[in-house]
Amino acid sequence: MPAAYDPNNIFAKILRGEIPCKKVYEDDHVLAFDDIAPQAPVHVLVIPKGPYVHWDDFSEKASDAELAAFSRAIGAVARARGLGPDGFRVIANNGGNAHQEVPHLHMHVLGGRPLGRMLPGKG
Ligand code: 5GP
Repeated sequence: MPAAYDPNNIFAKILRGEIPCKKVYEDDHVLAFDDIAPQAPVHVLVIPKGPYVHWDDFSEKASDAELAAFSRAIGAVARARGLGPDGFRVIANNGGNAHQEVPHLHMHVLGGRPLGRMLPGKG
């Protein structure tokens, strides 16, 4: 999977403050904000602040501090939105087969209603 980072992708612009977002969580390494087109009552995107295209890129190049912060931020978002008791889903689309649309790594944190099975067509 190619991993050339496009600094003009929409999430890079959000990180630079060039376009707004509804912030849910932020620390030195991570920003989380509401998805502009939510697919569940809670739909938050968690992104690293570093220039990583997708999970392949991030898991290979990120520092241990970035990896730890990213993982903890997902939990912090779930707690902030009260998702723990009923459950929630975390999804990362990586590359073409997964329909990744924005080429900056992001985890979708989804919850607030029953989410059905993970993939359509799978019983
Ligand atoms: P992907 O298909 O790459 O996994 O998901 C991209 C997500 O980014 C989609 O759920 C889409 O709604 C969201 N998105 C696209 N543009 C923007 C934007 O400008 N602001 C926010 N908050 N979300 C966006």
